[in-house]
Amino acid sequence: MHTLMDCDLKIPEIIDINDIIRNKKLTVYFQPVVSVSRKMVSGVEGLIRGMNTSTNQIISPITLFDVAQNAGLTLELDRVCREKVIEAFSYLYQQNNDKLLFLNIDASILDKVEGSNYLTNQVKTYEINPRNIVIEINETKVQDNTALKRFTDTYRKCGFMVALDDVGTGFSNMDRILLVKPDIIKIDISLVRNIQNDYYKQGVFKSLVNMSNKIGALVIAEGVETEEEAIQILRLGGHMIQGYYFSKPLEVYNESDIFSNNKIEMISKSFNQYMKKQIREERQKNKQLNLIVNNSIKELVRESCQEFDNKLLEIIWANKIIECAYILDECGVQLSNTMRFYDENEIKENLFFYSARMGTDHSMEKYYYPLIFAKLNKYITEPYVSLATGNLCVTISKIFTNIDCKKYILCMDFNTSDDTYTLELMNDLTKADFILNIKGKSISEINQMINKMNEAIITDSLTNTYNKRYIEERLQVDIFNASNQNQPISAIMADLDHFKKVNDTYGHLAGDHVLKEFVKIAKHNIRRSIDWIARYGGEEFLIVLLNADESVARKVAEGIRKAIEKAKIQYNKEHINITASFGTYTLNSEKMTYEQLIDRADKNLYLAKNSGRNKTIS
Ligand code: GH3
Ligand code: MG
Ligand code: MG
Repeated sequence: MHTLMDCDLKIPEIIDINDIIRNKKLTVYFQPVVSVSRKMVSGVEGLIRGMNTSTNQIISPITLFDVAQNAGLTLELDRVCREKVIEAFSYLYQQNNDKLLFLNIDASILDKVEGSNYLTNQVKTYEINPRNIVIEINETKVQDNTALKRFTDTYRKCGFMVALDDVGTGFSNMDRILLVKPDIIKIDISLVRNIQNDYYKQGVFKSLVNMSNKIGALVIAEGVETEEEAIQILRLGGHMIQGYYFSKPLEVYNESDIFSNNKIEMISKSFNQYMKKQIREERQKNKQLNLIVNNSIKELVRESCQEFDNKLLEIIWANKIIECAYILDECGVQLSNTMRFYDENEIKENLFFYSARMGTDHSMEKYYYPLIFAKLNKYITEPYVSLATGNLCVTISKIFTNIDCKKYILCMDFNTSDDTYTLELMNDLTKADFILNIKGKSISEINQMINKMNEAIITDSLTNTYNKRYIEERLQVDIFNASNQNQPISAIMADLDHFKKVNDTYGHLAGDHVLKEFVKIAKHNIRRSIDWIARYGGEEFLIVLLNADESVARKVAEGIRKAIEKAKIQYNKEHINITASFGTYTLNSEKMTYEQLIDRADKNLYLAKNSGRNKTIS
């Protein structure tokens, strides 16, 4: 890194470059390179500034090298700079022979440096071991790969280390990194700046770290200015850090100035705290996601595979955090559609990245084969950016067996960006301060969204009455309150008689219409404000009467039964006659779960069916 930000004065016309080179009118600055995990300053990068003695002005290295290049003196300037840096370092080195010196060499003169032994002799003169020297070459300025390769091979043989500088900017060549196999990769400031807010930068940084680990190189992040940046670098596996966060380049008079740094202790503490919080949150989130997957599977095992699409949609509506869900067969072929909450139109699609469709082969995806080959029960991917929606996602896949005794794999993509997560949390807690965290939406908009979602979750769309999920949530509460207030509570299970025949005779649409009419009639016969009716399944309904004893329950059931019997349900030109059977059960003071209460009412319904139908049994 030749640049020094605070002295970039363009005064080439009055620079006497010959004078500067001849009389070595250069000042050396050092900037520490910190290894946080080892809690120490591992080394220093030597940086040069020129001094214009007549005007007492500082000249930036960029200007110096520009002027030198115009005068054809690049090699000469480079040599003087190196000598000054090595000389200054030698004083530090006497007391600290475990520290590294990062020494810049201009990429344009690599072929002239190589074979001249100049550098090797400079280092020898100051009795520095070459293994303490890291030669930094600006990666983006290298034009000739073979010269670079020859150069690095030669100097590494002599014991020097080689770093590629400014990686990640301009036209970085990955193949060059693999060719040179540098000991160190220095990642440019542009990739580091605000990396905590940029998932793409994090991804690129992470891949550079992965690649470096494979070729045995260390990664240094340059230009780190804030604690947030430093924490991200550490989290992503960067090995060392350089930048204003730890220290500006300094003129060094005393080694303790540069080798002790009070920020190291601070950042390691902050990092540990950050990771602790991160891991706790991740656990919490995973727990939540696993719960959703497990609950979904509980519902899916009861369905035949024709019902998967509908069931998935129901599940997605209840869990906004699910980005999409689909089901594979045992061979990895997609069996359901890709069900999602979002309108398909909102989703970016292109030729390569589109959401998978029925029939897609997923057998080469990592959420498929580990399940089968490693006999895992569940697989959870690393977070990735969904190519369909641009959201941060994880995929969880899990094997299940349904009522047809066939094996399937449920795949769920979860949107794990924080906004959605907050929304889910809020759904549980309904606390105003969570609402404020959601960007771009007003509180009332969000409340509306949640209310709508909640309503959808508990409504049966055909009959527009409550569904089974509502029963599960509401009935427990009603039983609890009844027992608390010492009031009886009654359940009525109703089932239409020979309803299959209605479908068979008039068609399913007529059947649907009959179900709706049944609900209308039943609603007429209960107290609107405190009683409620829900569709238990198919053509079975549960009616719950609060503060109603057995005789009331019987009366209500009989009222509905008679009204149904009398009704001539009109569908198109047909008049459909139907009857229904009822079983009631009343809880007075005994303790019972809601499942037990339903079960008792159901048993009475069964008796009604078996003793001739169109009856109420209490
Ligand atoms: P039973 O008197 O013993 O109750 O006879 P049933 O025919 O009413 O009972 P069964 O359980 O044998 O059949 C129920 C039928 O209800 C079969 C199914 O097709 C129909 N059904 C379930 N849900 C719906 C629905 O949403 N719409 C329509 N049209 N029919 C439905
Ligand atoms: Mg029936
Ligand atoms: Mg039935």
